[in-house]
Amino acid sequence: MKIVIVGAGMAAARLADGLEGHDVTVLGDEQHPPYNRILLSAVLEGTHSPDSLRLPMRDVDLRVGARAVEIHRAEQEVELADRTRVPYDVLVLATGSIPSLPPIRGVVRLDGRLHEKVHAFRSLDDCLRLDAAISTGSITGHARSAVVVGGGLLGLQVARALAVRGLTTEMVEGGDHLLRSQVDAKAGEVLARSLKRLGTAVYTGARATRLTDGGLVLDNGFTLDSDLVVLTAGGRPSTALARRADLEVRRGVVVDHLLRTSDPRIHAIGDCAQHGAQVTGFVPPAWEQAALLARHLNGEEVRYDGARTVARLRATDLDVAVLGDPERAEGEVVEMSNPVTGSHRKLVVHDGVIVAATLVGDLSRIGLITQHYDRGTVLGRHEAGALLMAERTAAPVVLPDDAEVCACAGVSAGRIRACSSVDEARDTTRATTGCGGCLSAVRDLLNEGALV
Ligand SMILES: Cc1cc2nc3c(=O)[nH]c(=O)nc-3n(C[C@H](O)[C@H](O)[C@H](O)COP(=O)(O)OP(=O)(O)OC[C@H]3O[C@@H](n4cnc5c(N)ncnc54)[C@H](O)[C@@H]3O)c2cc1C
Repeated sequence: MKIVIVGAGMAAARLADGLEGHDVTVLGDEQHPPYNRILLSAVLEGTHSPDSLRLPMRDVDLRVGARAVEIHRAEQEVELADRTRVPYDVLVLATGSIPSLPPIRGVVRLDGRLHEKVHAFRSLDDCLRLDAAISTGSITGHARSAVVVGGGLLGLQVARALAVRGLTTEMVEGGDHLLRSQVDAKAGEVLARSLKRLGTAVYTGARATRLTDGGLVLDNGFTLDSDLVVLTAGGRPSTALARRADLEVRRGVVVDHLLRTSDPRIHAIGDCAQHGAQVTGFVPPAWEQAALLARHLNGEEVRYDGARTVARLRATDLDVAVLGDPERAEGEVVEMSNPVTGSHRKLVVHDGVIVAATLVGDLSRIGLITQHYDRGTVLGRHEAGALLMAERTAAPVVLPDDAEVCACAGVSAGRIRACSSVDEARDTTRATTGCGGCLSAVRDLLNEGALV
């Protein structure tokens, strides 16, 4: 079967790697083979090289710099920007999301390009451009400084990386706390304190309105004068291609239980897809969908019932994990905050069952908490509290075989234990290849017994 995947991002790489016995073409509009987007801030920080981000993929016809502009459904062909056409039996849309530009006057020049001080942070090229601006100091001759617009996941990662690189860094967030789509105000405050410890000033409840020669003007009257402005404010599913092809699109490209769009020969996965009311935006669901679609296209019987909402956000020393929807879930809240150590943990418990959780800073109990969440374990009266009490220094706890160790690739402790080395675990299960947050747990499981 001739399978064409549009988009050469994280979902596409995982899908292409799982397909067996098909003729596979991957069309990507970036100039790079698929890479791990989560680790872009690690490249900016200087701990990873761009090459180390490359994602494993089996031998397929990969075309980089190939932008798909039209789908000719009747002919079953995809048209590229250079007007060539690629035929398909099955087409998969994995076009990801596109960053939204915040409404700040002056960030876009009259010719449609970004102001020379302004940077986006979505792709490897964005990252390399920002890195070059810092390394060469090409913007001004003065001390280097940056304002990060947006206090969400990307903003946190970028602000941390810029601070580590020695820039005077400020962050502006329009909402009343950081990471407000995922966590509550207390957790946001813990994150803000962690950033402040790195020397980053955080302004919440303030919106940037204009970029002038004097700096970035905020709606509270302040002006932040900096060499760089980095935009990290949100994104939305990339659906233009699907819309033009008359596929059903709401927020994302609508898919069913086999990840099929309204045309059964076309599937959609990852950030661009919408299943039920759910649009995701994180690696774990994108990889879960990609792995399931690979099995379906390989002839297995499968069914997609929606993503388990687990988000693991990567930014060194700003670890965050969110299970379910802690801000909307109904139940009793058990929480523990320690701003001094930079940790915040919250469980929402309904009839003894964990229905949502937020962990900031100390993720040492994430394996056990995820296991109870997945299994729907009914906890005893004191158990929820006890789960939150452990600090990093607490005695190690043995992880059961079915506890999830790698949230990105969905790998359990048992599967890790079945491997003889970290390399084998990486190659056979893909654990550690996403955000990398599970690396120490994987090492512990393979070398020194299981620690939580
Ligand atoms: C800086 C950054 C940090 C992140 N950190 C985290 C994190 O810590 N944890 C987490 O879970 N998630 C994180 N995410 C989100 C995560 O990267 C995405 O959820 C994931 O990449 C989704 O995979 P995808 O394949 O759907 O989209 P993408 O990986 O974005 O890939 C889509 C690809 O399709 C290409 N494309 C689009 N249209 C076309 C077209 N017409 N023709 C050809 N190619 C096209 C795009 O250029 C892109 O290369 C982060 C994202 C960014 C940008």
